[in-house]
Amino acid sequence: MAEELLAGLYRIVVPLPNSPLKDLNSYVIKGKDRNLIIDTGFNRTVCHEAMSKGLAELEIDPDRTDFMLTHMHADHTGLVTRLASEKSRIFFSRIDARVFDPDNSWQPLVDFAEINGFPADELQKALNSHPGFKYSPEKKPVFTLIDDGDVIACGDYRLKCIATPGHTQGHICLYEADRKLFFSGDHILFDITPHIESWAYATNSLADYLASLDKVYSLGVDWVLPGHRSFEGDLQTRIDELKKHHRERAEEVIDVLSGKTMNAYQIAAGMTWDIDCETWEEFPIAQKWFATGEAIAHLRFLEGEGRVTRDAGAPIVTFRAA
Ligand SMILES: [Zn+2]
Repeated sequence: MAEELLAGLYRIVVPLPNSPLKDLNSYVIKGKDRNLIIDTGFNRTVCHEAMSKGLAELEIDPDRTDFMLTHMHADHTGLVTRLASEKSRIFFSRIDARVFDPDNSWQPLVDFAEINGFPADELQKALNSHPGFKYSPEKKPVFTLIDDGDVIACGDYRLKCIATPGHTQGHICLYEADRKLFFSGDHILFDITPHIESWAYATNSLADYLASLDKVYSLGVDWVLPGHRSFEGDLQTRIDELKKHHRERAEEVIDVLSGKTMNAYQIAAGMTWDIDCETWEEFPIAQKWFATGEAIAHLRFLEGEGRVTRDAGAPIVTFRAA
C-alpha cells in the first residue's frame, strides 16, 4: 500500500521476512514528467509483490521512472533490475558500484572472517545465508554514477547527494533543502541502530560513520525519512544517541578484552546483542556473521585510537587492550 507523506511524495512499506529490520521504506516522488523511486527491497517475490502493488496504486509508468539507491545492500538495491525499464536511469554511488564489478567476489570477506576466528566449517553456511548473497539483483544494473554534491531533480524536488560513508563506504543520503527533508537511507535509523561493520583492516568504518554523523548534524532538517521503520524523531537528538551508543559499545569491547588476548569472533561472542537468543551458540549463523563484522569495526576503531593492539603474526588475528 502506498501512503502519501507530502504532496507528490509517497512511501511503500516493503516487508523483509526473517530480517531483524522487519521492512524497508521505499519512497516514491511523482513528478510531472518523470518519477523517482528511492530504494527497492530484496530481490524476492514477497518484496516484488509489495512494490508492484504500491506502484500500481500510484499509477507509476516504469518508462517514466528513475531510481536512486542509497547504498549497495540487497534490501535497498535487490529489485532494481526487475522494476526498471530500459528508459530508467539508476542513480548510484560511484564507490558502492564497485561491489557490482564482475571481478568482485565474496572470497576476500570469507577469508577475512576466517582469519578473525569465524569457524572454518561454518563459513560456507554463513555465506549461503547472507541476504546480500541470496537477494541481490540477478544482473549488474546499468548505473548513472553519482558523487557527493550532485543534485537529482524530480518534479520540484531537488535532492542533493551527501556522501555519508560508514554503514557502507559509498552510502549516500539525500537532502531537499526547500522542504527540509532528509532521506537518510541506513545512515540514521530511529528504532534500531544502523549496522556498522568492517571486513578489512584498511577500513575504519566506525570512524567514517561518526564523521558522517557530524557532517549532517547541522543541515537544517525538519523531517528525517529513514530506510527502515518509523520516521518519528529529531535528527540531532538521534545523532547524539547514536554517537553515545558507539562510544559505549567501544567501552564494552574493552571490558570483554579485560587483559585477555582474543580474536574478533570470541569478542563478538562476549558482547551483548539485542536478539532473542539465550546464548551465542543459538544465534542464527547470519547474525553471528554480522556480529563479528560489527566487533571488528569497533576493534579497528579502538586500534585507531591507540587503545587496542592487533597481532596478525599467527593464522588467527588477535587483539589485546593497549
Ligand atoms: Zn543497509
